[in-house]
Amino acid sequence: MNLPELTEFVKELGEKPFRAKQLYQWMHEKLSPSLDDMTNLPKTFREKLKENASYTSLETVQMYESDIDGTRKYLFGLGDGNIIESVLMRYKHGNSVCISSQVGCRMGCRFCASTLDGLTRNLTAGEMLDQIYRIQLSTGERVSNVVVMGSGEPMDNYDNVVRFVRLLSDENGLNISQRNITVSTCGLVPGIKKLADEGLSITLALSLHAPNDEVRKTLMPIAYKYSLSEILPACKEYFEKTGRRLTFEYSLVQGVNDNLDEAKKLAELIKDMHGHVNLIPVNPIKERDYKQSGREAIEQFKGYLEKKGINVTIRREMGRDISGACGQLRKSYLKKEGEGES
Ligand code: SAH
Repeated sequence: MNLPELTEFVKELGEKPFRAKQLYQWMHEKLSPSLDDMTNLPKTFREKLKENASYTSLETVQMYESDIDGTRKYLFGLGDGNIIESVLMRYKHGNSVCISSQVGCRMGCRFCASTLDGLTRNLTAGEMLDQIYRIQLSTGERVSNVVVMGSGEPMDNYDNVVRFVRLLSDENGLNISQRNITVSTCGLVPGIKKLADEGLSITLALSLHAPNDEVRKTLMPIAYKYSLSEILPACKEYFEKTGRRLTFEYSLVQGVNDNLDEAKKLAELIKDMHGHVNLIPVNPIKERDYKQSGREAIEQFKGYLEKKGINVTIRREMGRDISGACGQLRKSYLKKEGEGES
């Protein structure tokens, strides 16, 4: 709940409105994991809250820290026993957290581990926030950037994601600048259009991964539903309404989308889009036969885009020693647990 909603709720419980502010501070500023910590709230009020509401606090099931770069991966347990994963990346410019927006995913991208078992459920705004709260509290270091690029498709959980963004950037909470929040989508057009009208100044990242629908369909089933001729105008509208430059994510898969001809088509496709391309050498998952493009192919691809005046970066691989990206850790944990039971 945001502060006005919480104030209403607290009043309905027969308490003074200022209690809402105190409660909000405990939750969103002090990042308290439990109602029992909130010592300046009367015990009777805390009991009432326990009876009438549920308090979201994720349990850290496992945490791995990379010896190479200090990246941390967290497996969190939700109240209903589901497991999600989040990642902390430490950069010179600050700490960035990558959160999950759903338990699993139903988008079916062929190279992605998060979608292999389909969608279990949406995360609430509180469950998204708490991934960041637990991480900040466990390191004692401020989180300055958040990317919604973990498991799940944010536009498939639209209302909760927008609520999450507003709470995360609330000046009475962690107060993370909206400019430091990125939401990544596989291209759900109605969601992109709606987000453009929310009055937010977050960065939108589009998972493009191919320069045309034909190749895109082989990697991303969602390409059958929305064509690039609908997605790109929606992205352009996002830029025009928000003034925020777009990011195009392009995972390079050997022999699928990484040749020079595809770089040419990509440059042509996005030349008027005011975007920046983030090339991601695909992380192979064992359930599929996709291979990372070679160093040379990656450099050639990048070089061509640069020659055409497009801003390009290659995503630096982080935390390689602590098990892959995009749902791989959760997947291997669930598998191990399952084997343990049988
Ligand atoms: N559902 C959102 C966010 C998910 S993941 C989306 O599709 O954008 C964030 C990015 O990682 C997406 O671009 C996704 O396509 C990419 N990704 C997923 N699995 C990957 C893998 N194994 N290797 C490289 N990139 C991957």
